[in-house]
Amino acid sequence: MTGMLESYAAGSWFRADDEGRPVRDATTGEEVARISSTGLDLGAMVQHARTVGGPALRSLTFHERAGLLKAMAKDLTAHKDELYELSYATGATRRDSAVDIDGGIGTVFSIASKGTRAMPNDTVYLDGDTERLGRTGSFVGQHLYTSRPGVAVQINAFNFPVWGMLEKLAPAFLAGAPTIVKPAAPTAYLAEAVVRRIIDSGLLPEGTLQLLCGSPHGLLDELTVQDHVSFTGSAHTAGLLRTHPSVLGGGVELTVEADSLNCSILGPDVTSDAPELDLFVKGVVTEMTVKAGQKCTAIRRVIVPRHAMDTVAEAITARLARTTVGNPRSEDVRMGALVSLDQREEVRKAIQSLRASSEIVFGDPDRSDVIDADAERGAFLSPVLLRAADGAAEPHDVEAFGPVSTLIAYDDVAHAVALAARGRGSLAGSLVTHDADVAREVVLGLAPWHGRILVLDRDDAPESTGHGSPLPVLVHGGPGRAGGGEELGGIRGVLHHMQRTAIQASPDMLTAITGRWTTGSARREDGMHPFRKSLADLRIGDTIASEPRAVTLADIDHFAEFTGDRFYAHTDPEAAARNPLFGGIVAHGYLVVSLAAGLFVDPAPGPVLANFGVDNLRFLTPVKADDSIAVTLTVKQITPRTSADYGEVRWDAVVTNDAGESVATYDVLTLVSKE
Ligand code: NDP
Repeated sequence: MTGMLESYAAGSWFRADDEGRPVRDATTGEEVARISSTGLDLGAMVQHARTVGGPALRSLTFHERAGLLKAMAKDLTAHKDELYELSYATGATRRDSAVDIDGGIGTVFSIASKGTRAMPNDTVYLDGDTERLGRTGSFVGQHLYTSRPGVAVQINAFNFPVWGMLEKLAPAFLAGAPTIVKPAAPTAYLAEAVVRRIIDSGLLPEGTLQLLCGSPHGLLDELTVQDHVSFTGSAHTAGLLRTHPSVLGGGVELTVEADSLNCSILGPDVTSDAPELDLFVKGVVTEMTVKAGQKCTAIRRVIVPRHAMDTVAEAITARLARTTVGNPRSEDVRMGALVSLDQREEVRKAIQSLRASSEIVFGDPDRSDVIDADAERGAFLSPVLLRAADGAAEPHDVEAFGPVSTLIAYDDVAHAVALAARGRGSLAGSLVTHDADVAREVVLGLAPWHGRILVLDRDDAPESTGHGSPLPVLVHGGPGRAGGGEELGGIRGVLHHMQRTAIQASPDMLTAITGRWTTGSARREDGMHPFRKSLADLRIGDTIASEPRAVTLADIDHFAEFTGDRFYAHTDPEAAARNPLFGGIVAHGYLVVSLAAGLFVDPAPGPVLANFGVDNLRFLTPVKADDSIAVTLTVKQITPRTSADYGEVRWDAVVTNDAGESVATYDVLTLVSKE
């Protein structure tokens, strides 16, 4: 591929008509493309997102948005071979590209699936339970999330042009925010290919995804209070963005993932013959060499008990010596090139700074044996392992964004934690130990300084995804130096793009606003049992209130014998009398719930297909022999499933006794036919 990269702006592809600047193949130095945004109307892009993309997206429910994301991920999967081919030019081996390309597509699948399973088929997301604000229950509160009528701008780093874009796009899309992607110049051709594929597929509504290839200068000036910028890259650029007037005084929300001096700690319990030693060494070498160490989560600081230092240094050295560097297309190569010659210079400078207080144990920053490539024209660099002198400051300060790590000795667990904290906040940390006490002490010490921590030992190793992999269901981001931002984490990543608002109202108003029945609001009884109604006919508030039924001692005895639950409170009158909460025989909670089902169920075949669980079950008042109970069941939430001919109905269940007290409350979850 050659020629000028295009931006996708306001519904069409834009090509700058100046010379632009060259983007080069990381492994050969040859020009891959040129990049420029001269003449691109950034204001029009922002307007297009706001007036075309945003409204189209927000007219869809979370489930519909999730469905589109899933279709997009499937389409990208079908075209990923082209992306893999292009990815070699970034210096990535096939294994590296899998992290970027398959990792990115997998993240979209995962977020889409969370969108259908953990979000309602609606456009509003309720946060937590209703809060009762007054004495009688006529004034209640509910937190809810709504989509902002703004734009999600992503400014991305060069290292994961696919994953970095998709892991931000999917949550923003689900949240109802149209996205403008600004890829980093050195690998923008790969991001462009992905966006082109997505646009060509026609799957996403127009205006929900735009691409800016070239300088984003002036983009932030166009943003206002409902807009969000997620930035990944250097702390220096993050600093520029943080002080931009739109962010400082204009209310633009900024999320930052910046460089981070992640650590891996070897537990003091790990002996030279323990399987954990090998796991630790492998983890460090993997993190040094995958993507040639150009990973925001890579292990930069290898924190090791002083007594194990020589053993660990030798083991890592032996493995690094087997790491072949060169043309990433070659099957014999394990580590490809850095992204550019400039980046290699940056890494060499950083190594030079580290050498002020550390000695090189392995590798030569100035020379590298390479396979099937030109060591100088390509941005190749040998892995470099350093060992810090006691008290060294640089390893906790200088980030060499390449295949570089520094060994640091510790004396005891508290010392290891203190060393880790000197990184001033990291994205990811790991601890390799098989000692539960060490795990608790170190993890609780590290947690305030980290976004994610892996505890690795022989038990979880077979399934572990390793130190460096951000996972869509877990948060990605870290405090302090790591930028303070947070992405992913399942639905959390979606909610970052939405506005949480506390609504105070009467129960009826809250039901109308949220679409979920709220305790205290009107119930509807129209003479037809709600189990006879299909999803299309059911309404929020439809209710069945049962007749009362006595719970006899014979019922309790029978249940105890039948189930084998002969707990003394149900079977031994004297012992039960001494129980301070019951003061005598009481019915099993599960008996109460079972009897309640008998009271509300309409038995004949009909639209209700299955009961798939209960939520929030609480037993509030004991039921004594000869008490009578009744149940009220009310339709609380209706969630049609887009790809099935049934949907989920959540019912509010309240069991009361003859004194009108609540005995048990819970939500019954059922599947009900649409027709
Ligand atoms: P930069 O901060 O230089 O660039 C990151 C992104 O910001 C690029 O898209 C870049 O565009 C853009 N950018 C640069 N200047 C501005 C500006 N003034 N306003 C708006 N956007 C701007 O980082 P690099 O990609 O060059 O990476 C350098 C360092 O960043 C690495 O050495 C590493 O320390 C860190 N890094 C951290 C990562 C993390 O996730 N924590 C990931 C990758 C890198 P353009 O490319 O067009 O200049």
